[in-house]
Amino acid sequence: MSFSVEQFKQQFPLFAQSENRELVYLDNAATTQKPECVIDAIADFYRHSNANTHRSSHRLARRATDMVEQVRARAAVFLGTASPKEVVFTRGATEGLNLLAYSLCSQLQPGDQVVLTTAEHHANLVPWQMMAERYQLELRYVPDTRGVPQFDRLTEVITARTRIVSTTAGSNALGFRSDLKAVRAALADKNIHWIVDGAQLAAHERVGVQDIGCDFFVCSAHKFYGPTGVGLLYGRERLLRAMPPWQGGGEMIADVDLYSSHFADLPHKFEAGTSSLAAIAGLGACLEFLGQQDRAGMARHEQQLLHYLHDRLEQIPELNLLSAAENNLGIVAFTHPRCAAIDLMQWLDARDIAVRVGHHCAQPLVRASGHSATLRASVAAYNTRLDVEKFVAAVADFFAHLD
Ligand code: PLP
Repeated sequence: MSFSVEQFKQQFPLFAQSENRELVYLDNAATTQKPECVIDAIADFYRHSNANTHRSSHRLARRATDMVEQVRARAAVFLGTASPKEVVFTRGATEGLNLLAYSLCSQLQPGDQVVLTTAEHHANLVPWQMMAERYQLELRYVPDTRGVPQFDRLTEVITARTRIVSTTAGSNALGFRSDLKAVRAALADKNIHWIVDGAQLAAHERVGVQDIGCDFFVCSAHKFYGPTGVGLLYGRERLLRAMPPWQGGGEMIADVDLYSSHFADLPHKFEAGTSSLAAIAGLGACLEFLGQQDRAGMARHEQQLLHYLHDRLEQIPELNLLSAAENNLGIVAFTHPRCAAIDLMQWLDARDIAVRVGHHCAQPLVRASGHSATLRASVAAYNTRLDVEKFVAAVADFFAHLD
């Protein structure tokens, strides 16, 4: 198995559409394009297998139920969990983090502490702020340098009242990877729940939750070539068992009477209502697809592109590069002293180059870097050197027109 960007890209029908032949898609940190097999699996589910899940029901319902559990088993391998029971289907990383915040914080006492970093996506900030207000918890932040967390100083903010540490595995705004080994070392032998937001990481490398050593991990399928509307939450079985469910309804109960209910076993306790079944089918195809790829080759290709992109941008006078090339998940953000990022984005859009502008749902981090908005380009394995060249040439051309 070796990685060929041409063969890889051919599997994504969006790029073959006549209107997209010239498209340079560098907004992959927001969402990735989907391979044919994922699109087919979603359509096939509706075309051939559509039914709600119930194990002891009719043929189609049993088929849908089996499909969901097969995808769960595949997701367990993808995440490296000890058992499929440790995998909960969510709508995405945001829902996974809300579930954890709601459920874990309901068991805390006023004055207990939750430690975050200033680099978090809003999905890993706002739910904790909401729960901190509800349960009078204290939010603390890992010391940072211009927004970049200094995990070797994590112990400075941990006290006897710290119950939860929730950290991103990599910044969606600047691209840097978190030093998860340092977090693990700082939390060793402490009775603190450690959550990793893997929304960006899962797109770029094999995840091994047991190797990472975290207690919980969340990600969204749409960031790694899967469908929107489905994500994964990993939790250690022992911890998930001890947590209350966060939503009530069908599918998550064993028995209900008028004044109380018994909840279903793991992981169904956390999956109230009808899941995005077609999206789960698409996720199954996506995991099979990724399993057939040379993931190390994909990662090497992405890193080569990232370094090339970074080097080329560095050569543009005055451009203020905010991302480092090393230890980066494929994201480069920058500003320019003489233009608003939005104007550059529109210039690029007019040339069919898709990038993101703004605070990237990480306002505290972008502010700490001294800006209110940046331009962000992010690579995936189907991007080519030509994409980078077209992007950099268009950026340089824009600045040439400023004078
Ligand atoms: N966390 C990080 C680091 C992200 O990059 C994102 C999305 O950009 C999220 C969480 C939220 O993901 P979703 O919107 O798929 O729930």
